[in-house]
Amino acid sequence: MYKIDSEIADEFINHDEIMSTIDYMKKNKSNKLLAQNILHKAENFTGLNYKDAAILLECDDAEINQQIFDLAGRVKKKFYGNRIVMFAPLYISNYCVNGCVYCPYHYKNKNMPRKKLSQSEIKNEVIALQDMGHKRLALETGEDPTNCPIDYVLESIKTIYSIKHKNGAIRRINVNIAATTIENYKKLHDAGIGTYILFQETYNKKNYELLHPYGPKHNYNYHTEAMDRAMLGGIDDVGLGVLFGLNSYRYDFIGLLMHAAHLEKKFGVGPHTISVPRIRPANDIDTNDFNCVPDEIFEKIVAVLRIAVPYTGMIISTRESAAVREKVLRLGISQISAASSTSVGGYTEKNNERAQFDLNDTRTLDEIVRWLLQLGYIPSFCTACYRENRTGDRFMNLLKAGQIANCCQPNALITLKEYLEDYASPQTKLIGEKVIRDEIQNIPNEKVRQLVQNYMTDLNNGARDFRF
Ligand code: SF4
Ligand code: SF4
Repeated sequence: MYKIDSEIADEFINHDEIMSTIDYMKKNKSNKLLAQNILHKAENFTGLNYKDAAILLECDDAEINQQIFDLAGRVKKKFYGNRIVMFAPLYISNYCVNGCVYCPYHYKNKNMPRKKLSQSEIKNEVIALQDMGHKRLALETGEDPTNCPIDYVLESIKTIYSIKHKNGAIRRINVNIAATTIENYKKLHDAGIGTYILFQETYNKKNYELLHPYGPKHNYNYHTEAMDRAMLGGIDDVGLGVLFGLNSYRYDFIGLLMHAAHLEKKFGVGPHTISVPRIRPANDIDTNDFNCVPDEIFEKIVAVLRIAVPYTGMIISTRESAAVREKVLRLGISQISAASSTSVGGYTEKNNERAQFDLNDTRTLDEIVRWLLQLGYIPSFCTACYRENRTGDRFMNLLKAGQIANCCQPNALITLKEYLEDYASPQTKLIGEKVIRDEIQNIPNEKVRQLVQNYMTDLNNGARDFRF
């Protein structure tokens, strides 16, 4: 039985309820009146439940679909403004005891060279990332209690935060490690992590078990209930995601929204972020074995998620091409990775044989910053909320009141200015300085506008790290 606030995965992500919702959405795919009524409801900017969202996803009416895309753009603008937050993944160990059939790090892949970075190798990777201009990382590891225990992860977090190379600093580390215990989540929380990210991969239990044939990750319930444990461990910013292509996208779309609703109901805080990766080719992995999601459907998934969960940041990685990224930025994506390596040690050594998956967007950070500026966005290196203790319900309350954009915009301008001063090419700097001059005029609050002007002068004079 579907029970939104249950502690048991099979109840808060209920298979029968998902199947009947899929049936309902398919039967109503041409029900224009129903879709119109749902869109009307969504105009309140308070989100939609999974049933209503499913109707919009399936709707085959061109006019309604255009309205969905327009509304998604407006939702994004209202809550996040035009800043795009930048980050990079940092892989520190690819030892893994699991058998995920879609990932080249799976235990039985003997072609994969295994590597765990020493603290001094981590330092070199972080310096390389700082020298590009990155301030925010997603720390990634495989699951291996012997080769990559929690103490190693904690030590690595400490190392990363401690490195200050020239004007560089990593100010926020989000962590993507395997499902673990409440005790370990407490340790991660105490280490000062930003968001804890764990992709569900797929919410279909039967498929999940087939796709994860051995190792601790085989346990669907333990994996699916991980975010509840993270919350109980004190981490109130958690990031959800599925790997689109592993299973039917309709199923995982509904599962994702059920999971978000469960967290909101049970803990009063929905997911901080939702990532939308699609499966990519990699060493020992052939995408022909999967249900790859075509671009048009992928774009619709992004747009409807944006409308259904307006209070959640949405992330897209360099798995996607520049063209796809450009489209989905308009439809709701608010964070992107840039100049990524998905390889252990990949920022200091170009060693593709250790990569987790192939990249589509291989541009440098400078190129991506310039591209975003030219598209009318403000590339942001902001990490302010977690450092100002705006996490969990404190963050959500500001977001729901439509106030977070008042912090995002000035913080984006200040951190962009830091980037332009320390790392940008002359061409990017020229465009960026103009955007900053223009955007300062758009800051509605006069006091904030004046403060930003003052910070700009201080940044010109060599001071760093201001925030609202
Ligand atoms: Fe290991 Fe994660 Fe890859 Fe699975 S997806 S094999 S858990 S690294
Ligand atoms: Fe993110 Fe907060 Fe910075 Fe906005 S102000 S970009 S929500 S950290």
